[in-house]
Amino acid sequence: MVRCFCGIVKAEMSNENSDNIVLSAHRQVVDHLDMIVSEKRLVHSYIFVGLAGMGKDIIARHFMRSLLCTTSSSGGCKECQVCRLLSSGSSPDLFRLDVMEGETQISIDSVREWQRKLHQKPVFSQFKIGFISEAERLSAGAAHALLKTLEEPPDNTIIIMLVPSPENLLPTIVSRSQSLYLPSLSEKDLSRLLVPYCDEETAKIVTQLSARRPRRAAQLLADEAEIAAVKEAIEESYVLLGATEFDRLQRINNRLTGDFGENKIAAQKMAEAVVVAARDALLAQVGASAAAHLRGYQASTQQVSQRLEMNDLLRGLENLLLLERKWEVNANPRLAIESLLLNI
Ligand SMILES: [Zn+2]
Repeated sequence: MVRCFCGIVKAEMSNENSDNIVLSAHRQVVDHLDMIVSEKRLVHSYIFVGLAGMGKDIIARHFMRSLLCTTSSSGGCKECQVCRLLSSGSSPDLFRLDVMEGETQISIDSVREWQRKLHQKPVFSQFKIGFISEAERLSAGAAHALLKTLEEPPDNTIIIMLVPSPENLLPTIVSRSQSLYLPSLSEKDLSRLLVPYCDEETAKIVTQLSARRPRRAAQLLADEAEIAAVKEAIEESYVLLGATEFDRLQRINNRLTGDFGENKIAAQKMAEAVVVAARDALLAQVGASAAAHLRGYQASTQQVSQRLEMNDLLRGLENLLLLERKWEVNANPRLAIESLLLNI
């Protein structure tokens, strides 16, 4: 048993538990993938679309094991050599295309080298996989080079790409692939999936803090310190949203000279916290019952909802979603967070 800030976490959040939450959350997509593998109705290229924290990587790993494992077509057996090599990231039938260290985009040279490797014969399995875990980082030249692989795919090759939004890819890449969307869940559905691992109150709070994203929720459950950090960021978001424009500018400037200046993850977490606070304030404006709000923040929510017009909040949320989709190409977190908060 582990103490949590608001209750008892019933079970340690192992990788397996985390995988189970994500796979159950996206059951329809998983069932579809299992079916196309067992019925051998595969196309050459798949795109998993979902914002950070939805669990694209876990779904992709499940699909890869289904494709490569020789004993099970539903997520693999997880025990054979093929599955173990896949889990450790050293499968000879998996070819990753990643951003090179020190660079921000996938270069055309990396694509060409990867394309050469894709012509090798599979070692253990019927298929080999070309995996692009951050396809939004393909440079324009790299994306055009990739098109060639999609137009004339090497034999027995399945390409799997992960992106936050289809807008991150060339329309011609999207049209030559099958896209599978991983949406956020309803609060009720995600809370229900978390309850085997924690008490109901914790499940509800983690669901809200994670913006109903299953992988993010599992990560929060695994780390009490992370929950505390998110709560702190949300408290700060209420202060920012409730402040006058001048005061907000001052506060943003203070923070930007600190850790947000260069730290994209810190800025990204702040942006996530702002969306939770803005959403709560909107709920208060439309008269949602207290049960819908984040516990412990009712007074701050009321204050923000009285200070800001509904249109301001809606525009802020819209900006945030746009920002999130374009986050990877926006190299400067300072500019991103500044434009978000000053446009509310
Ligand atoms: Zn296996």
